[in-house]
Amino acid sequence: MSKTQELIAIEEKYGANNYHPLDVVISKAEGVWVYDVEDNRYLDCLAAYSSVNQGHCNPHILKAFKEQAEKVTITSRAFRNDQLPALYKKLHDMTGFDMSLPMNSGAEAVETAIKAARRWGYRNKGIAKDKAEIIVASDNFHGRTTTIVGFSTDAQYKKEFGPFTPGFVVSEYGNIESVKSLINENTCCIMIEPIQGEAGIIIPPDGYLKQLRELCDQHNILLAFDEIQSGLGRSGKMFAHQYEDVVPDMVIIGKALSGGFYPVSAVLSNKEVLGVFGPGDHGSTFGGNPLGAAVATAALEVIENENLIQKSFDNGNYFMEKLKSIKSSKIKEVRGKGLWIGLELTEPARKYCEDLMGLGVLCKETHDYVIRIAPPLIITKEEIDWAFDRIKEVVEKYA
Ligand SMILES: *Cc1c(COP(=O)(O)O)cnc(C)c1O
Repeated sequence: MSKTQELIAIEEKYGANNYHPLDVVISKAEGVWVYDVEDNRYLDCLAAYSSVNQGHCNPHILKAFKEQAEKVTITSRAFRNDQLPALYKKLHDMTGFDMSLPMNSGAEAVETAIKAARRWGYRNKGIAKDKAEIIVASDNFHGRTTTIVGFSTDAQYKKEFGPFTPGFVVSEYGNIESVKSLINENTCCIMIEPIQGEAGIIIPPDGYLKQLRELCDQHNILLAFDEIQSGLGRSGKMFAHQYEDVVPDMVIIGKALSGGFYPVSAVLSNKEVLGVFGPGDHGSTFGGNPLGAAVATAALEVIENENLIQKSFDNGNYFMEKLKSIKSSKIKEVRGKGLWIGLELTEPARKYCEDLMGLGVLCKETHDYVIRIAPPLIITKEEIDWAFDRIKEVVEKYA
């Protein structure tokens, strides 16, 4: 048995089977490259669902991680620590939001936004007790907690996990009339992804985000954007919603906030919204810990210092134009923003991803028909060319 087969066998035997990974066992990584246990090299075109926008084991973040790990890793929020203020300040300076609330996983930050929106609705809008409603979108992905999967429209995400939390209504993504029809006096928040990642890089019609902002202003509703995957440069802007020049009331971030070192997420908002939380109302043992804060501050510095947002924009266009030049009856559409590209096929994408793995490019299909191409934002044009040649080869093989 090869080392790969041996490790897979142990995993299959002792691990819960809640993922269907490609059979590559990664043991080290650097920048855009990952290496398996047989020392084969692959170009990572998934970047851990955009957690490593800064590249694997980014040296600047690694340095902060190591240095902080030797000082103090966790204090709990029962005490203060000397790293969290710098993260708060950095988030404010880079995003313009008044304040933020740190958590760990993305789903926890989404839960935090839900709590904040509901309480804001009771206090600032006078919504009757336990009546607050949040409007979400079809094909949303906001995480895996029981509350969050309760308003998913993906049957698999919710099957046999009920009963679910009430207070969510689902509009059709991209359809402003659908949102309008769901607004009532109990609506406290509209929460959507400005570009849907897990759904397959779905970009809403131009003007949709602006129209959402107008509806929220008219009806005194909070606008929350889940930018856990789309944010921090992935789309070619700091935030995907900046393509429409709207300012939401809340932005939820995670994933690349730590450059992949450690789960760090946050809700960015203003005093009126995050001010609804008082001591003891909400919290997390690990949220805002000094190791996470040091790592996140360094991860944000890398985005800024290495000009990753502009690189994502420029190289994303470069990559997308190349992909659009492939002639194949199997390509339905090439779409995306920045280095976040969906290659939609007319048939299931799994075999393409398996073939690409054989050629040294790691991609993962999303929702069966879409190959998501989202390499670390540090990727160079030469590396894009290298990946492109292989993608072209595989797509043309099935053309
Ligand atoms: C990944 C993701 C989440 C959930 O984040 P976790 O860290 O896996 O809990 C939420 N929203 C969006 C848009 C995501 O892409």
